[in-house]
Amino acid sequence: MTDYAFPPQPVPTVAIAGTGRRFPVRRIFCVGRNYAAHAREMGKDPDREPPFFFTKPADAVVDARAEVSAAIPFPRLTGNLHHEIELTVAIGRDGADIPVERALDHVFGYASSIDLTRRDLQTEAKDMGRPWDWGKAFDQSAPIAAIHPAADVGHFAKGRIWLSVDGSIRQDADVAELIWPVAEIISIVSRSMVLMPGDLVMTGTPAGVGPIVPGQTVRGGIDGLSDVMLRVG
Ligand code: MN
Repeated sequence: MTDYAFPPQPVPTVAIAGTGRRFPVRRIFCVGRNYAAHAREMGKDPDREPPFFFTKPADAVVDARAEVSAAIPFPRLTGNLHHEIELTVAIGRDGADIPVERALDHVFGYASSIDLTRRDLQTEAKDMGRPWDWGKAFDQSAPIAAIHPAADVGHFAKGRIWLSVDGSIRQDADVAELIWPVAEIISIVSRSMVLMPGDLVMTGTPAGVGPIVPGQTVRGGIDGLSDVMLRVG
């Protein structure tokens, strides 16, 4: 047995729908600007230039299944916390240089999730040519609902994706609008890193991102998946 200096942190996990089993999280990759209308609202021209990525730590996941009624403290340092509803892909099989036509074989399942963003810190980092970590990779920045195995729900080429704040709809789009669909994203990530079981890929958010203030409840969903829900502050 390893003689650790102190007890290691438990492996972060995500619920798997319909079972008592948990999905152990290894890494979280996130795609930037993957819906044209969101790229425009962020002041960029949408294009088919290769996608870019950032990451969050595995322990940023929060069990935000609607039935859990999760709440997190309002994140530190920010005066402009934004919601970004996203389709998360859970990887179940390792691979490098995965061809697009084989990419979906590496999917364990899918979940609704929110890429919580400290927009003020992200914008400052962008303006200064600095990394995005302080805007994106903070504690509890990846609330996620249960993962539905692809064996049960299939794959997501289309379907409504939406988010509401205190019941009013803020984001409402379709997964079909993804500039880089799931199979291509998996293939592209696997050219840079060896994908491993436990990796999560957040595929980007549609238009309508905006602020959450303390005390508000955010709820989002994707047709065919369980809703994600979280109260902040
Ligand atoms: Mn995002």
